[in-house]
Amino acid sequence: DLELTWRNDKNHVIHPYANFENFSKEGSTVYAKGHRHFIYDQQGQKYLDGIAGLWCVNIGHGNEELAAHIGEQARNLAYYNTFEDSTSPSAANLAAKLASLCPGTLNHVFFGTGGSMANDTAIKMVHYYFNMLGKPKKKKILSRNLGYHGSTYLAHALTGIASTHIGFDLPKDDITYLSTPYPYRKPEGIDSHSYCDYLIDEMETKIIEIGADNIACFIAEPIMGAGGVIVAPEGYLGKAYALCKKYEILTIADEVVTAFGRLGKMITSKEMFKVQPDIMVLAKGLSSGYVPLGATVISSAMHEVISRPKADNPYFSHGFTYSGHALACATGLKNIEILERDGFCEHVNKWGPYFKEQLTTLEDLPIVGEVRGSHFMLALEYVTDKKTKTSFPMEVNIGKRIYTASKKRGLIIRPIGPLNVLSPPLTYDKDAIDETIGILKDSILETVTTLHKEGH
Ligand code: PLP
Repeated sequence: DLELTWRNDKNHVIHPYANFENFSKEGSTVYAKGHRHFIYDQQGQKYLDGIAGLWCVNIGHGNEELAAHIGEQARNLAYYNTFEDSTSPSAANLAAKLASLCPGTLNHVFFGTGGSMANDTAIKMVHYYFNMLGKPKKKKILSRNLGYHGSTYLAHALTGIASTHIGFDLPKDDITYLSTPYPYRKPEGIDSHSYCDYLIDEMETKIIEIGADNIACFIAEPIMGAGGVIVAPEGYLGKAYALCKKYEILTIADEVVTAFGRLGKMITSKEMFKVQPDIMVLAKGLSSGYVPLGATVISSAMHEVISRPKADNPYFSHGFTYSGHALACATGLKNIEILERDGFCEHVNKWGPYFKEQLTTLEDLPIVGEVRGSHFMLALEYVTDKKTKTSFPMEVNIGKRIYTASKKRGLIIRPIGPLNVLSPPLTYDKDAIDETIGILKDSILETVTTLHKEGH
């Protein structure tokens, strides 16, 4: 019963990223059913899911084949621990599958239940690795402003979105945040051609300042997601990785959003950005969000070091009840089989450019400063003045307004401050793209009219 759900939700649930002031008076939208890229609320309203739940339902909602497989695995064995000498066929086979997908010698996998946990695991592994090598001083971390890496204590500290740090005493002492590689908002006086080298020079200066002997790793999303779908200048990642190699700094590719087809590749680091990370972090599209699952994949060289026998304690003392969860891993394995067999990457490669091209036509509208991103990972940034690129005042809540206007018309997009993000299920087809563009256009124009009336 809807009233009961609303009451219990309001009285007892703490929502992620809760805005306690803005908690909707009518109650939350209760999503009850999904099919491909459509989602339905409990009152029967149909929406286009322009964000795949939260960048994750890559194969689309309500996939019968995956649901049947999950049921079968649950009936056989949903869970048993994978500590010490236990394993499950699905954990073993999914690890082997990920080893075959990940580039280079990335071939040992640690499983958890999501992206934050996988990033925490990556950092613990890096610290353990340098301790095993007798280099305990090498423990500082390079991250980036506007990078998003999760919400557990350490993953939140890795996240370079300063406004979210307020009120928590996050463990940030060993973290340095490099500048966001943000072409739309590059510093004045730096032209597009020199911007990449400007960022790389800054990174090298920071490395020298901190001392390479003190730096353990560099963590980066190939394209920043939650920070605003920010695409670095061409060549940036390759040059940043080259610096890391020069200074013996391990590289962590946070591919939680970018992997499993969203950019038309199963894994993007090597195939799209031509870089070879030491560690790969995966979640979201790994299980298409059907069950919680995350993975940290390390190189054979790193694995050799962390598995060395030692005198004081024989264990690599890190693990979770749900590491290698049989049901979760079976879901991941089947999900990957479906993604590959049904040609999802080919579909995204075919329709991604059309999606971007159509969305870019909205740059003709008054407040759309930039449309950016790639394939099925796109964003619009709104400004009050296109020449000066002036942002809307916070209280205008521009992204949220256009989200609300779109939702009313049957499209769900994600508001992030002055932006809207699009990251739909990979089933999105021409009809869905065209409808999305139409709704967005109407919603933006309606919002512009209201803003005028309000004097903005
Ligand atoms: N890394 C990236 C790039 C993400 O986008 C996210 C979540 O949005 C995370 C890590 C954290 O994943 P989770 O929310 O599953 O802990």
